[in-house]
Amino acid sequence: MCKACTLTLLFVLVALSCGLIGCAGSDACGSRTNDTQAKLLECVTVDGVRKHLTALQAIADDHGGNRAAGTSGYDASIAYVVDTLQDAGYETELHAFDFAFEPPASLQQIAPVKATYETGNIRGSGTGTVSGPVIPVDLALGEEPWPADPFNSTSGCEASDFDGLDFSGPSDIALLQQGACIFSAKASNAEKAGAEAVIFFVEEAFVYRADQYVGTAALLLDGSPSNLTIPLIGVRFPQSVALSQEGVEAIVDAASAKVVTEVNVLAELPGGESGEVVMVGAHLDSVHGTPGISDNGSGSAAILETAVQMSKVKPRNTVRFAWWGTGSDLIGSKAYVNGLSQEARDEIALYLNFDMIGSPNHGFFIFDGDYSDSKDTALPPAGSAEIEKLFESYYAELGLPFKSIKFSGSSDHGSFIDAGIPVGWLFTGAEGVKTEEEVELWGGTTGDRYDPCYHLACDTFDNINFEALDVNSDAAAYSVLQYAMNTEEVNGVRGKGNFQLDPGVGPMPSK
Ligand SMILES: [Zn+2]
Repeated sequence: MCKACTLTLLFVLVALSCGLIGCAGSDACGSRTNDTQAKLLECVTVDGVRKHLTALQAIADDHGGNRAAGTSGYDASIAYVVDTLQDAGYETELHAFDFAFEPPASLQQIAPVKATYETGNIRGSGTGTVSGPVIPVDLALGEEPWPADPFNSTSGCEASDFDGLDFSGPSDIALLQQGACIFSAKASNAEKAGAEAVIFFVEEAFVYRADQYVGTAALLLDGSPSNLTIPLIGVRFPQSVALSQEGVEAIVDAASAKVVTEVNVLAELPGGESGEVVMVGAHLDSVHGTPGISDNGSGSAAILETAVQMSKVKPRNTVRFAWWGTGSDLIGSKAYVNGLSQEARDEIALYLNFDMIGSPNHGFFIFDGDYSDSKDTALPPAGSAEIEKLFESYYAELGLPFKSIKFSGSSDHGSFIDAGIPVGWLFTGAEGVKTEEEVELWGGTTGDRYDPCYHLACDTFDNINFEALDVNSDAAAYSVLQYAMNTEEVNGVRGKGNFQLDPGVGPMPSK
């Protein structure tokens, strides 16, 4: 019998035995060594992953709906991961790094009515308190029909947009609308025109971001720092309508960032004499003001359950799990990789990243390791193509369609790519909009975001598709155990024979 057939039969047997005599209970999983794919995938269940997400949601609830780095909600998230790992027998390490914590700016309307508004941070903001008139600049509020392209609004893109408006006072606040050019260009024009602060908003026609109110003005289009000194703040669309009325005065208060020390959590499953390290990571923190259950409780929980269920395995290669702090700004993973010696970097055979793997209106996306769809970006480190193939074979075995996705620079594998380390990344979609063709592939809703609560306060426990999360938690476990035993396909280092890859043979999903 060919090896592939043996494996396939094994998975079928596991599936059958689960159906006839019940799956290995959590007791069995707690005591046995999950050193084969069949055993591991039987024990990494969506219920186990869900338990971690329930805990993270409870933490968010206890900490003002926030698990962002630099807050008590993140500290509690760290404590939960550390406790869970230690209960499973791991030694944990906290890797400290410094970052600039920006407290959210505040906005109060003081005339003609009084109101306090929920606000979002705009990166690159200056600091200070500005109290004065709010001056709308070339807005397209309520214009019918809405522009087909919501980016059509040119509010503040041209210096001439400010002509005829009185920004001569000592504390004038410009009200600017997203569209046509980047925030930093608009804010620079406002500053030059004499504004002392800027309020940004996104117009309602841009349906899938109408409730989005965070952004960045830190860099100019050419990549140079914008060096803005005036406070910048974001509000949601309905508030912008109120603020655009005649005679509005407001107070914008942007405190300065302070440097705080934050931590990544690391835990190792020691390997044999191979000297190879397989790294697996997910950012644990949320974006400010959000519970962050999809982004990125989902990835954090999946690798936590994988670590727990693999705790008794004696892998050939060392497996190093990482929960990154400030993954939303990529600071924790960057500080970690930058802090490694060349020798320590050379030991890392590959890095697997799990950031948003259970989006409510999900797709199954795999990082484009073979460059087949990303000709305009830099070639990923050699070996990344083989990691992509492993995930492809996994989805193919389950009969699930998948797509490759190019690297946008927006997750923690970026620093590993920069260090020349092969990477893999699974992703189920964020603020992008699902197409009709994708709904045919995966179901869901055409025209909605993959994650309608991306970076919003509604990113709660209810913002998860547990079927997608089940599939991807198993994908995480499958890939981690595979590379724990054998990275030959990726870097040519001979591994354990049982874990030779058989193309076309993947796992059965656990239920
Ligand atoms: Zn994320």
